[in-house]
Amino acid sequence: MRILFLGAPGVGKGTQAERVGAALSIPHISTGEMFRRHVGSRTSLGLRIEEILDRGDLVPDVLTVEMMLERLREPDTVNGYILDGFPRNLAQVHALDGAIGDYALDAVLVLEAPNEVLKERILARGRTDDTEASVSNRLDVYERETAPLIHVYRERGLVVKVDGTGEIEEITAKILMALA
Ligand code: ADP
Repeated sequence: MRILFLGAPGVGKGTQAERVGAALSIPHISTGEMFRRHVGSRTSLGLRIEEILDRGDLVPDVLTVEMMLERLREPDTVNGYILDGFPRNLAQVHALDGAIGDYALDAVLVLEAPNEVLKERILARGRTDDTEASVSNRLDVYERETAPLIHVYRERGLVVKVDGTGEIEEITAKILMALA
């Protein structure tokens, strides 16, 4: 199965994508995690994007698309994958379509939670890019650039919505049921 997880920062996408990937025995591919690994190991990409991540802006598409399309060519993706954090804007949707085909995804799982819950969870998590200013910027960027993708994928008949509030285990169960 090829599944895309969409949802605002703090909604628990990463946590759930990891658990659902394990349950379905497919890799969880997190763009944010890949970027943070580059920053941590001070690669040339990492050095270029560090400030962008701290501000909560999107990394330029050229860098993101190249890294992700390369990742999707690795052999562990043959039976599917969970995409978490890519595509995040329309240009990235088109890049992904070009690489795997417009109808190659099986489902787009949209996790939802109210804004107060999102902010609370993010500030409790305390990652280096989890400052007030970065968080509020990331929420804006999500509304402006990423939320419109829900409409695109709804037109393709792929969208499944799940409530992201409640216990972690309970949400995972709801997602697995929704995907079945
Ligand atoms: P969150 O969803 O909580 O913001 P992520 O780990 O998904 O956390 O992303 C962290 C940061 O990585 C983003 O704020 C952004 O700077 C960068 N990033 C992640 N995915 C993309 C993408 N598809 N395109 C551009 N930048 C991205």
